[in-house]
Amino acid sequence: MIQKHVFGPVLSRRLGLSLGVDLIPFKVCSYDCAYCECGHTTQKTLARRTFFPADEVMAELRTVLSSRPALDSITFAGSGEPTLSLSLGPVIAAIKREFPEYTVSVLTNGSLLSNRAVQDELLSADRVIPTLSSVFQQTFEHIHHPHPSLKIEQVIEGMIEFRKRYTGQLWLEVFVVPGLNTTDEELAGLKSAIARIGPDRIQLNTLDRPPAEEWIGPASDEELERVRAYLGTSNIEIAGKKAPVSPAVLEQTAAADLIYATLCRRPSTVENLVRTTGLSGAEVAKILGSFERNGTVSSQRMDRGVFYAIVPEQPVRKG
Ligand code: SF4
Repeated sequence: MIQKHVFGPVLSRRLGLSLGVDLIPFKVCSYDCAYCECGHTTQKTLARRTFFPADEVMAELRTVLSSRPALDSITFAGSGEPTLSLSLGPVIAAIKREFPEYTVSVLTNGSLLSNRAVQDELLSADRVIPTLSSVFQQTFEHIHHPHPSLKIEQVIEGMIEFRKRYTGQLWLEVFVVPGLNTTDEELAGLKSAIARIGPDRIQLNTLDRPPAEEWIGPASDEELERVRAYLGTSNIEIAGKKAPVSPAVLEQTAAADLIYATLCRRPSTVENLVRTTGLSGAEVAKILGSFERNGTVSSQRMDRGVFYAIVPEQPVRKG
């Protein structure tokens, strides 16, 4: 059965075997990042709303978690910015109440962390992982195309305020875009901001999947190492390029449904899908072939191999 809000588990380079929770309709976000693997934002907003009731999301989660599957993380992520959803806090609270054995992670762009209500809702998550790619407004806009009222200094101040209140793990993602945020001036600014924020961990990430905009490219291993050396703290890591082998996936999920649900959220290679589903490469290739023939899926060659992605319906871009 295809779930509307719960997807995976998928292999995350940063989080291991991760069950995704998506509280946002495609594609509502406060940013429209050039590297976004979901494609362009269609509704750029800072207004929080109840897009889907918490009860509806929890009903799906109870179905999936009732068998107590082995997971490294239940992760809020998906079709947009999770902190825009007013259901975020209630769903995190319900997971911690009903399934306390699981680690709850929230992937956020960090733009709403200055909002006291958002901070309150995130306090019971185990990990909050915001993104900071530059301290300069021009570079911030170039990479993230944020909502026009967002200023990067305000975003950084929100992260600092949140850090003061939050006792869980704060992991800061720095998305590295060669030639844009890799100059000495950019890295010096990031280093100073990181010292003010005080994250538990810094994860350097770079383009790994087909992006929203063609101009953006991945940083090389050498470039990532140079950035790591410049930032120079001990708690910094480069997001792994190799995902771990997953245990068996949820038995009740049909293979084609699982592949479809995984591709809805993130483009994947055959190798990714083999590890996620436990199917053979031939079986995955057969399902992908049928998806390609009926126009559900398209493929694109990247540095790390051929990525398959759902062919989107043509959204009207408003942002
Ligand atoms: S990468 Fe995240 S923050 Fe950026 S546009 Fe996509 S969903 Fe929004």
